[in-house]
Amino acid sequence: MSDAARCCVVGGGPAGMMAALLFARAGTPTVLLEKHPDFLRDFRGDTIHPSTLDVMDELGVLDAFLQRPHQKVTSLAGNLGDTVITVADFTHLPTRCKFLAFMPQWEFLNFLAEEAKRYPCFDLRMQTRAADLIWENGRVAGVRAQTRDGIEEVRADLTIVADGRESLLRERAGLEVVELGAPMDVLWLRLSKRSDDPHETFGYIRNGRIMALIDRGSYWQCAYVIPKGTLAQLRERGLEEFRGQVSAIVPFLADRVEELRTWDDVKLLTVRVNRLRRWYRPGLLCIGDAAHAMSPIGGVGINLAIQDAVAAANMLAPKLRSGMLSERDLREVQRRREPAARRTQALQLFIQHTIIGRVLAQGRPPFLHRLPMLLRAMPFLPRIPGRLVGLGFRPEHVTS
Ligand SMILES: Cc1cc2nc3c(=O)[nH]c(=O)nc-3n(C[C@H](O)[C@H](O)[C@H](O)COP(=O)(O)OP(=O)(O)OC[C@H]3O[C@@H](n4cnc5c(N)ncnc54)[C@H](O)[C@@H]3O)c2cc1C
Repeated sequence: MSDAARCCVVGGGPAGMMAALLFARAGTPTVLLEKHPDFLRDFRGDTIHPSTLDVMDELGVLDAFLQRPHQKVTSLAGNLGDTVITVADFTHLPTRCKFLAFMPQWEFLNFLAEEAKRYPCFDLRMQTRAADLIWENGRVAGVRAQTRDGIEEVRADLTIVADGRESLLRERAGLEVVELGAPMDVLWLRLSKRSDDPHETFGYIRNGRIMALIDRGSYWQCAYVIPKGTLAQLRERGLEEFRGQVSAIVPFLADRVEELRTWDDVKLLTVRVNRLRRWYRPGLLCIGDAAHAMSPIGGVGINLAIQDAVAAANMLAPKLRSGMLSERDLREVQRRREPAARRTQALQLFIQHTIIGRVLAQGRPPFLHRLPMLLRAMPFLPRIPGRLVGLGFRPEHVTS
């Protein structure tokens, strides 16, 4: 079966869903292909940043969006040994919402999908896995997808590839990936939350170990950082020892580490930092993780994915409408968005190298103990990471 649209978006993650919503909103017949039957996947990253909340405001849906269950976080704290410091402060941002909203990603994606469905030119196809590109006269003319009923062709003037960091289509497009490396992997686990637990503490660095806790209302979502590729050794030493390590870093969790019953309760995120040298081919553009996989430092992957989508729709929807879309337009999107991704990755690599790598290898980086003193002398300092995390280097605004 063959089908035609102006725009075919592959991948219903934050990048693809926002791009599809914006193209449809601009009146472009848009098909979105998502391989899963729903958005219900755990530990996908749940941070909605102030700049993304501004985008929701520009779309006129912010108040409705904030009706969905979420936690507001106005600052991020760190626990160095026994000293608590504020690492990032969002309360001074020039945005409508001066907080991060922690919301399960399926809530966010369902919300965007419902908004997009209000436009008759939007067509969401779940359980549809893009398997290959259709090439015609040296340009991408759409995708071939596997559905429950067999192979389907979706022909389009523009194919937006937003299929995440394991992107199949960027490989099919022959786009080269530059790997930047990371010294760590992250283990995700969930432990229950009690009413007398501390509220504000987010990151812990203690005895050469690093763990971050995200307050999810009834439970803590915990990110435990390990040296890259060492999960197998950790498993060999046994779950009991791992439970002991978690209790040693965050002592108030000691009374509930038994909730980790098997290694199935511990999910591995293999950290990758990379980017494409070139984000486009004639008729095709990669955005989000497919164009640049981010380190989890700062939790900025979703925000950058959304910003890419906004820029792509702003710049390309009018061109598509007039039938004047050229390869140069696609290059302009990369030119606009790549510097923000590069600068963010450079900062993440610096932190990976100077803090995380050293903590994991040597116990503690040499300068961290001076941080509390520095922050006492310059209490405004946390506003800088607040701006970098909350807004990013180049926040985008909806113009289409
Ligand atoms: C465990 C974990 C925790 C994270 N925590 C955070 C965080 O706290 N904050 C943050 O900002 N970022 C976080 N991230 C990163 C964040 O999730 C990503 O940066 C962000 O989701 C990227 O969005 P995306 O739309 O580009 O890709 P993805 O979210 O990966 O979406 C890609 C979509 O494409 C679909 N897909 C893939 N292949 C195909 C195909 N062939 N056909 C059709 N559909 C396909 C997938 O099912 C998926 O829905 C985390 C990532 C992980 C893995």
